[in-house]
Amino acid sequence: MGSNFEITVVAEDSTKANNYIDAAVNEISRIEKLISSWDKASQTSEINRNAGIKPIKVDKELYQLIERSIGVSKLTDGAFDISYASMDNIWKFNGSMKKMPSKDSIKASVEKVGYQNIILNQEASTVFLKLKGMKIGFGAIGKGYAADKAKQLLQNRNVTSGIINASGDMNTWGKQLNGDDWNVAITNPLDKNKAFALLPITNGAVVTSGNYEKYVYFDGVRFTHIIDPRTGYPSTGIISATVFAPKAELADALATSVFVMGKEAGLNRINQLPNVECIIIDEDGHLFTSENIKINKS
Ligand code: ADP
Ligand code: MG
Repeated sequence: MGSNFEITVVAEDSTKANNYIDAAVNEISRIEKLISSWDKASQTSEINRNAGIKPIKVDKELYQLIERSIGVSKLTDGAFDISYASMDNIWKFNGSMKKMPSKDSIKASVEKVGYQNIILNQEASTVFLKLKGMKIGFGAIGKGYAADKAKQLLQNRNVTSGIINASGDMNTWGKQLNGDDWNVAITNPLDKNKAFALLPITNGAVVTSGNYEKYVYFDGVRFTHIIDPRTGYPSTGIISATVFAPKAELADALATSVFVMGKEAGLNRINQLPNVECIIIDEDGHLFTSENIKINKS
């Protein structure tokens, strides 16, 4: 999934633990095959290849993930949008982009972005991207979804406690062997080798979107890999958004959304959602939290 997964389980012995971990890894690989937009053989790639051409029949699982993704778009006034992916041809964060993309190329690509043009047919289980050149990608929700599924699989096998860590997208259940809650460290975006907070977490997920991992500099300005779907430009203002939610999928999607929405609109929306909390650090290093989070602000 373009990132490392780290899986921790509590089990009777190491043989059992390794078997559980193998099962979780298989589950994550299975999901990757279904949702990767880089893997040409995936159903997601088939949807993309047929943009503007025809609807594609997909597995219920993928159909429902797309349906939920559109749900998050509606919840965030379009800040989250899996059809951001046509911008992938314009903004590249793998080191290959040497200069700022032209205004015209951004304008032409952003016209292809818009979740309203993802057409679902539930009965036929088909997905159709209305515009030629449209593309979907699960970069901001897929890791969270995979983490939820791996956790679910292990819970179904009666694993009482563990952690799925998808490059910082954490999903935990149960407690540590000594009965303590799991603690999750949140990276300090101004110094990624340091944690700025250690928070206990029992049965839920915490996901951080930060601009300290994938970005480029043009003329001294840092551009991050989260794109505002409405403008086609990388979002600015926030350097780290951490979201707590019962499921990693929602936490993942909302962390990205808050980045785009900005601190005010982002916090407002998070405060309206039950069991969802958020910590934001803006580009001046200031900390903002949703209503139910109490941490020492220094
Ligand atoms: P990370 O991948 O670093 O954990 P995120 O979960 O925030 O960070 O996902 C960022 C990725 O999501 C980008 O690399 C891109 O693939 C995709 N993406 C960028 N902007 C958006 C957006 N507005 N809506 C949905 N997905 C996005
Ligand atoms: Mg995300």
